[in-house]
Amino acid sequence: VNKEWQAALRVIDKIEHSGFEAVIVGGAVRDHLLQRSVNDVDVATSALPVEVKEIFSSTVDVGIEHGTVLVLDEGEPIEVTTYRTEGTYSDYRRPEEVAFVRNLEEDLQRRDFTINAMAFTKEGTIIDLYGGKEDIDKKIIRAVGDPNVRFREDALRMLRAIRFGAQLGFSIEEGTLKAIQMDSDLIDFIANERISMEMSKIWKSKYVYYGLQLLVETNLSKFLVGQLEDQLEHWRTFKTEDPVVGWAYLCLLNRQEVQNIADFYRLSNKEKTYIRKVLSAFDSLRQNWTAMDYFINELDVLEAAYDFAQWQNFRLPFKKEKIQEIKNNLPLQSVDQLAINGNHLMSWSTRKRGPWIKVALDAAIIAVLNGYVKNDEEKLKEWFINDFIDEG
Ligand code: ATP
Ligand code: MG
Repeated sequence: VNKEWQAALRVIDKIEHSGFEAVIVGGAVRDHLLQRSVNDVDVATSALPVEVKEIFSSTVDVGIEHGTVLVLDEGEPIEVTTYRTEGTYSDYRRPEEVAFVRNLEEDLQRRDFTINAMAFTKEGTIIDLYGGKEDIDKKIIRAVGDPNVRFREDALRMLRAIRFGAQLGFSIEEGTLKAIQMDSDLIDFIANERISMEMSKIWKSKYVYYGLQLLVETNLSKFLVGQLEDQLEHWRTFKTEDPVVGWAYLCLLNRQEVQNIADFYRLSNKEKTYIRKVLSAFDSLRQNWTAMDYFINELDVLEAAYDFAQWQNFRLPFKKEKIQEIKNNLPLQSVDQLAINGNHLMSWSTRKRGPWIKVALDAAIIAVLNGYVKNDEEKLKEWFINDFIDEG
C-alpha cells in the first residue's frame, strides 16, 4: 500500500471525525483490487466543499464547481470530491452543472463502468453495488446501467471503455460493446482535447493493439483520423511508453494526413517537432544516414525512425544498437563543442562581421563531422584559410 493510499485514509479519518462520510472511490479501488500500482487516490465524501475546507488547514480549489477540493494536509495531495450526481446532459457531453448529494449510492451510480464504481471504506470494506468485483474477476468492462443511455449522456465513455480495455486487457461486455457500435458517431460531439487524452492513454497501454482492434470493431475509428481500419496489422507489435511515439507512427502510416492528425489530436508544438524529425529521419534512412543526421537528431528520434523502418520491413544496413554507438563516436556532439567560434574566424579574416560567419561555422561543423578536418583550432584555421576562403 503506497503513500497516497495512506494519506487518503488519514483524510478520510479526519472527515469522519467531523461527522461526515468519506471513502476511496473509482480508479484507485479498481487498481487496488487488481494489485496494480495506484496513481491518483480519489476520496468521495458527503461533506460539501465548504465543509471539507473547514476540516483541513491547507486546501486548493481545483474544481470546486464540480465539488473537488485538493487537500494538502497529509503530505500527499488528495482530491476530495463531494458525492454528486450529474443532473441533465445535453449534446452527448458531460454536464457542466452537477448536483451535490448526501449519499454514496447516487454518486456511484453516475460512474461509467462497474469496475470504476466501487468504494473502499476506512475499515477496508468494499462497497460494490454493480458487481464490479465480479467483473474484475471476469475481466470485463461493463457500463453501469443501460449502456446506450450512459453513452448518450457522455459519448466519451465509449472511448474510455476501450482505453480501460487496452490498459487492463479486459474484454468489453456484449451489451456495452453493441451500444458503442450503435452510438459510435456520437463521439463527434466530444471535444478533441478529451479524445486526445484517452487516445494518449491507449498508445501507452499494455494491450495497445487490442485497443486499436476495438476502435475498429466498434466503428469509433471511422470518426478519428488516420486509416486504422486498413492499417490494423501494422500495429500488431507496437509498444511504447510515450504517446508521442503513437502519434508519430500514425503520421508515418498516413503521410498525407499529418496536418490533420496534428490538428485533430491538438498536438503541442513540441510533439509536432518530434514527429517532423522522425518523419525526416525516416526519409533520410532510405539513403542511409549521414554524420549530419546523427548529429542533428536526438537518439530517441533516430531510434523511432529505425523502429518504424524495421516495422515496414525495410532492409537496414546496421543493427539498432549501432545508432547510439555511431552517435557517441561523432567527432562533435553539439555545436558548442566546435573548437572555434565567430571571433576566431574574424581574427583569421579581413572581412567584417556578417552572415558569412554563420555560413563558415556551419561549413566547419560539416567538415568536422565528415572527418575532413579535426576539431582542433589550428587544424580548423588551416581548413578555413586554405579551403573555406578559397571557395567562398
Ligand atoms: P486513471 O487510472 O486513468 O486515472 P480512473 O479510473 O481514475 O483511471 P479518471 O478519469 O481519473 O479514471 O476518473 C476517476 C473516476 O471518475 C473513474 O474511475 C470513474 O468512476 C469516474 N469517471 C471519470 N470519467 C467519467 C465519465 N466520463 N463518466 C462517468 N464516470 C466517470
Ligand atoms: Mg484517475
